[in-house]
Amino acid sequence: MTTFSHSRIETFRRCPRQYYYRYVARVKLPEVPEQIATFFGSRCHDALEWLYDRVMKGAVPTRKQVLAEFNRVWDDNWLDDIVIREDGMTPKRYRTLGEKCVGDYYDAHHPFDDSTTIGLEKQVRFPLDADAGITMMGYIDRLAKEADGTWHIHDYKTNKGLPTQADKDADPQLAYYEIGLRQMWPDSVNRVELHWHFLRFGETITSTRTPEQLEELRHDALTTIGDALGRGKDEDAFEPIETPLCNYCDYQSICPVKKHEVTVNGLPANRYRNEPGVKLVNRWAELKAAKAELAEQEAAIDVEIGEIQEALVEYADAENVSVVVGDEYEATIKHDEKTMFPRKGYEPEEHAELERRLVESPFWDRVSSMDAARLRTLWKQPEALDPKLRKLLKQFVWSEDDTKSSLRRRRGH
Ligand code: SF4
Repeated sequence: MTTFSHSRIETFRRCPRQYYYRYVARVKLPEVPEQIATFFGSRCHDALEWLYDRVMKGAVPTRKQVLAEFNRVWDDNWLDDIVIREDGMTPKRYRTLGEKCVGDYYDAHHPFDDSTTIGLEKQVRFPLDADAGITMMGYIDRLAKEADGTWHIHDYKTNKGLPTQADKDADPQLAYYEIGLRQMWPDSVNRVELHWHFLRFGETITSTRTPEQLEELRHDALTTIGDALGRGKDEDAFEPIETPLCNYCDYQSICPVKKHEVTVNGLPANRYRNEPGVKLVNRWAELKAAKAELAEQEAAIDVEIGEIQEALVEYADAENVSVVVGDEYEATIKHDEKTMFPRKGYEPEEHAELERRLVESPFWDRVSSMDAARLRTLWKQPEALDPKLRKLLKQFVWSEDDTKSSLRRRRGH
């Protein structure tokens, strides 16, 4: 029997290598200080769990009592090494924010009689595919049932951002729990609502799923699980996927994507500069920058050459000469005309019209694989051109100035 959770499935989807470290190799992580965001979220959950525990026992606590409980669990669990990453935030501000989240929730839901709470931090465990021995497991923050028989799966969120309705309609986590509820209480569970409470915003997003959507979810989850299990235990089978989330990954020091960065970031400045990998990458970057600079210079030179060519053509025309000499080189100017047909990128409508007419004509076989250059070649061989095709092409052909200039070394210089 293999047990999966929403987070295990999502870990594999986001980064198979992280999944490998966590669930296959079970890499032991060093103890690290807790992040304030995690601490803050846990204390809000604690306070709401305490609140509903009292409600379940028939004693609705006052707002003041719930906030006192929030502050009690905050103080009891606080550790001075808790990490705050957010600019401008302090433990005091987080505590005040927590009081607001819990207080606003209290105000919005008091007297908490819209449904009967069935369980808090309720474990849901059910076979996702009994034949394959795949079990799904998770915890529901609050499971409740309305008087009309509707089941409610509640989840508290303390995220900094408020997702959209579409985001939550596509969120699989609570829908997995719905699959579980329907299996755990098949005779009782009919209608199920999924509720996400975004405590920072005082907003609740509600979603429901159709039987087809639940079946699709189960199918997708089993496909992902099959993929994960099918890769065995070989680390190389679990490719790392680099995303901005790597910066928060617990396995940066062993993952090939972040390991070098983590290693050299810990070096003193002189050792960092001489680290072979750092040196090679820096040199490559220098060469790339130098190449880009040369390309810029080359582009500027090409512009100037173009201007000189134009000036030379003007000069040659004015002086009625076809060769203009310099010290070691001389320039030749030769006027010619280039046959043109509509080009897809420049004359799209005419090009489409010509193509349509050719397709309808009996000559399509001869030109269908031809581009403008081949049409030009054909046009220049009147003896080989069918008169009817010539007549057709004549309606589209035109001439453009095709003056070329080139540089050659003067003889004897
Ligand atoms: S650092 Fe990034 S690529 Fe490596 S395991 Fe973590 S999430 Fe995956």
